[in-house]
Amino acid sequence: MTPDERRKALDAIADEIRDCTRCRLHEGRTRSVPGEGNAETEVVLVGEGPGFNEDRQGQPFVGAAGSFLTELLGTVGWRRDDVFITNVVKCRPPGNRDPEPDEIGACTPYLRRQLDVIDPALVVTLGRHSLGSFLPGARIGQVHGTARPGTTELGPETGLVFAMYHPAAALHQGSLRQTLLDDAPAIPVALLDARERRERIAAAESHPQPALPEAQPAAELDPQPALPEAQPGTDQLTLFTRDARTDPR
Ligand code: SF4
Repeated sequence: MTPDERRKALDAIADEIRDCTRCRLHEGRTRSVPGEGNAETEVVLVGEGPGFNEDRQGQPFVGAAGSFLTELLGTVGWRRDDVFITNVVKCRPPGNRDPEPDEIGACTPYLRRQLDVIDPALVVTLGRHSLGSFLPGARIGQVHGTARPGTTELGPETGLVFAMYHPAAALHQGSLRQTLLDDAPAIPVALLDARERRERIAAAESHPQPALPEAQPAAELDPQPALPEAQPGTDQLTLFTRDARTDPR
């Protein structure tokens, strides 16, 4: 998919979300919030649902929680428009209540399609409802600040899921602010792990190990090409977009 095709595909999904009436949350919304950001990114942040300000503006993570999210990204040298930001449900639950399972079920196909289009290496879940969509049964108190493969259809298929508390939680519970700040440096490290996992899986799929010919001395076998060594260094922690990976200027 070209960058233009990817952007158009995301815009088409957003248009559907703006007119969606699949669940009861459409009744109380001012505006639905499809999500926004860099369509070429390797990192998608997934919150739970729009709050008061998001509902008014039609954008994810605005207001105080959005400012803190921007601050968190800044601590690792990233900007909001380096990543794509969306939510599990795209319309505000009344009174900021938790989304109901049937509402999450109705809205998840939109998230799945967005992730299919962007194909991120790393999904960062913000809050327990987002975590539950990728790692059902995981407890945020135990897995925050760590990455692992997703276990649902949302994937990402060959990438990783990194769990964090929701930035809004830090506004209500002061101690979580420091927890989020402490967890943030592990996000780019998780991206490196996710890239490596992707490359390993892609290499295994594109170069399946040939069956050994019978009774052939080992010395006559073609040597396996050496895998490129990992390139540790701070420049690897930079968030590259898809363009940058294919055009490494
Ligand atoms: Fe549609 Fe999702 Fe909004 Fe429900 S929350 S009305 S499924 S866009």
